[in-house]
Amino acid sequence: PPRVLSGIQPTADSFHLGNYLGALRQWVSMQDTHDAFYCVVDLHAITVEHDPALLRRRTKVAVAQLLAMGLDPDRATVFVQSHVPEHAELAWVLGCLTGFGEAQRMTQFKDKSSKQGTGGTTVGLFTYPVLQAADILLYSPDPIAEGGRALRVPVGEDQRQHLELTRTLAQRFNHRFGDTFVPPDAHIPEGAAKITDLQEPDAKMSKSASSPQGIIDVLEEPGPMRKKIMRAVTDTGTEVVYDEEKKAGVTNLLRIFSALEGSSVPDLESRYAGSGYGQFKKDLAQVVLDTFTPIRERTLKLLDDEERLDRVLALGAERASGVATATMETVRERVGFVGRG
Ligand code: ATP
Ligand code: MG
Repeated sequence: PPRVLSGIQPTADSFHLGNYLGALRQWVSMQDTHDAFYCVVDLHAITVEHDPALLRRRTKVAVAQLLAMGLDPDRATVFVQSHVPEHAELAWVLGCLTGFGEAQRMTQFKDKSSKQGTGGTTVGLFTYPVLQAADILLYSPDPIAEGGRALRVPVGEDQRQHLELTRTLAQRFNHRFGDTFVPPDAHIPEGAAKITDLQEPDAKMSKSASSPQGIIDVLEEPGPMRKKIMRAVTDTGTEVVYDEEKKAGVTNLLRIFSALEGSSVPDLESRYAGSGYGQFKKDLAQVVLDTFTPIRERTLKLLDDEERLDRVLALGAERASGVATATMETVRERVGFVGRG
């Protein structure tokens, strides 16, 4: 089967609805049709100021949530990025192929660096997309000459530019050192690729940037979850209709409803024609709860069995390392590093 790889940062106490619809739901369905590698990217999580104890905790909670969503360690390789040091090693090599101006054009850096507090921004945040390219290319080693298939990378819309850079770096490496990487394909879902903040419908829902009122956490308690959805920003109108420009808030809620329930947006528009925002939001809250309550309950159970989580990660690290070390061996040889003998 074709291979799939994706990653998520342990930068909050819970994943959120945007992560789920933009990426994680696809991770689960693709484990059955793909050779799947999914990674909790802790090296990325330290590109912004962090607390070590919190990072450790959040990494475990992240793994538990992934399993609770349905990832199965027998069908998918679930691992922690820092367990496979080749990620950082390949990032160095790719960084030496990345133009400074090219990296400067990455809009996520512009967004995130402007939000860094008194400590200021870091070189690590600047080179984040290069590390991401390494995460991906380590698992896309099939030589083009042998007809290798492109690695698929399920991500949200916000990662499109980084995926483009990854493709460019793959091609540049191949051009300089001989065919090594098949440029990967972004796999961005239609409709739910950019879930926006409930309070700021023009901004992406984000673990690190959204206010608590703007974000729907997977692990949220039912009461607060309902309240937040009821208080989501809409507009002064009353009609439940899809209009990205004039009704960004309602449009976001329609997208969420449609993606979770599987009904089309026009169906929802006619179901709620004339009923106002209240009933629509109430029903949406129920749909969200129906999806997340079982995940929350399973996550809490999994967190009680740390040994099991450790076993999953040990197995994942071993499988991921098998692929990563082989790729890195090829890379070292192509780049001209002398072998240890
Ligand atoms: P951070 O604010 O720390 O960057 P994040 O919420 O952006 O956190 P990431 O761990 O960076 O989450 O991204 C994990 C995956 O979730 C990526 O594939 C990303 O594209 C996707 N994603 C993140 N936010 C959204 C969103 N609002 N809508 C759809 N997909 C999203
Ligand atoms: Mg992000």
